[in-house]
Amino acid sequence: MNGSIVLFGPPGAGKGTQASRMSKLTGKPQVSTGDMLRAAVAADTNLGREAKGYMEAGLLVPDEVIIGLISERLQQPDAESGLLLDGYPRTIIQAESLDEIESVSVVVSIEVPDDAIVQRIVGRRMDPETGKIYHIEFNPPPAEIADRVVQRKDDNEETVRSRLLAYHEQTAPLANWYGERGVLLRINGNQGIEEVGDSIESALLELSGKDA
Ligand code: ADP
Ligand code: ADP
Repeated sequence: MNGSIVLFGPPGAGKGTQASRMSKLTGKPQVSTGDMLRAAVAADTNLGREAKGYMEAGLLVPDEVIIGLISERLQQPDAESGLLLDGYPRTIIQAESLDEIESVSVVVSIEVPDDAIVQRIVGRRMDPETGKIYHIEFNPPPAEIADRVVQRKDDNEETVRSRLLAYHEQTAPLANWYGERGVLLRINGNQGIEEVGDSIESALLELSGKDA
């Protein structure tokens, strides 16, 4: 697969969790727009100051802000054989703009019902030293790092509702958009972490077999 792979799904679907295994499998560098934006907020750059309010309110950052960020990232030398895009595109406008500069080989859609999302997001924790994602119940951090894991500011029940609303209104229509282009791969995300990873891996291997 020569183009980029898009990881698609509602907030908390498990995109970040699956990304490192997929990155190893495909050799494509993982790029998370959420991580890039959080780094910009932490460094208090112009971009960070612009994005912060939207992120804390559970709203999408404006297209023109995020499109520039990804266009720049796609020009780096390691992006030549495509990237593993986690969390981008999230609007039709972002998808159209990506289409102009990069070929998308497959969109992996991790499908999880809304009622499972809130529980996943509220229990999410991150290890600030490694960036690894855990869940207090479904994937608990090892005892030796349990007191250093942190919870994201926007991972509370109220903000999750706004994020889900933004997802349904602005992002979900992309499934049809990519479906019409024949690149949408639907994966049942409502199973264990290993099982989701296995489903993605076998579907991608089958696709690359067809390519060859
Ligand atoms: P996203 O990147 O799509 O927002 P994450 O990968 O950060 O989602 O996962 C959200 C939360 O749900 C994390 O706490 C993660 O440990 C947990 N999680 C991810 N996949 C599963 C799964 N298949 N079953 C149960 N919990 C999961
Ligand atoms: P999650 O997968 O849990 O929704 P992310 O880490 O991907 O979280 O994103 C966190 C926040 O960053 C989003 O709620 C949104 O404000 C902003 N963001 C990330 N990616 C995009 C994007 N492609 N377009 C607009 N806003 C984005």
